[in-house]
Amino acid sequence: MENKFSLPDMARQNSFIFDFDSTLVTIETLDTLIKQNLSGRENEDARRRIDEITARAMNGELDFSASLSERLRLSKARVEHFARMAAHIADFVTPGMSEVVKLLNQKRQKLFIISGGFLKIVRPIAELFGIPDDRRFANDYVADAEGRVVGVEDGPLAHEGGKSQLVRALKEQGWLTGTVVMLGDGMSDYQVYADGLADLFIGCGFNAARPNVEFLSPVFVKTVAELLELL
Ligand SMILES: [Mg+2]
Repeated sequence: MENKFSLPDMARQNSFIFDFDSTLVTIETLDTLIKQNLSGRENEDARRRIDEITARAMNGELDFSASLSERLRLSKARVEHFARMAAHIADFVTPGMSEVVKLLNQKRQKLFIISGGFLKIVRPIAELFGIPDDRRFANDYVADAEGRVVGVEDGPLAHEGGKSQLVRALKEQGWLTGTVVMLGDGMSDYQVYADGLADLFIGCGFNAARPNVEFLSPVFVKTVAELLELL
């Protein structure tokens, strides 16, 4: 088989940028939180409205930040829901991912997490994987005095195309060394590569099957074992 990609020279220090939801962990954390909050018949209407918002955002009719805030509001998300999920998120690490991270750390590679999710939930996994504070990026929520999560702090990741914007900034500031490898399951992860900001994109299909991402990825792995073998 002829490879249409080249892997980084692991004797050098390269930069590996991981997505979080459905990549480092098996779940989509916000969707899971919303589902937990809105189980039961009395929430049927809220569930339907969230689906509508998600569809409108996907069609580009609503911007990312507005749709996120609206979903948080409709799901009656509270700070303690995030705290509870953060306390249990280690149970949802993608099986085998600890070995991948261990190997990359042993080879002295630079690891980053860039997530469109929430820092509160990303942080425990970053700590578990030994990824320093200045190499993990996600959104902060805004809560009111009663603990209701009502929105998202403004920042690059609260907007469409935010991952590309952030990677561009990291590049400009000299944070990314060697070959830049982006890993993730989603189109927003692929987009960083498509925007010319990563040298390689590894599509990760072990938790979520996204045919468009698989089709576009220069290299696509269906299992963590395949990923481990590549590295
Ligand atoms: Mg993802």
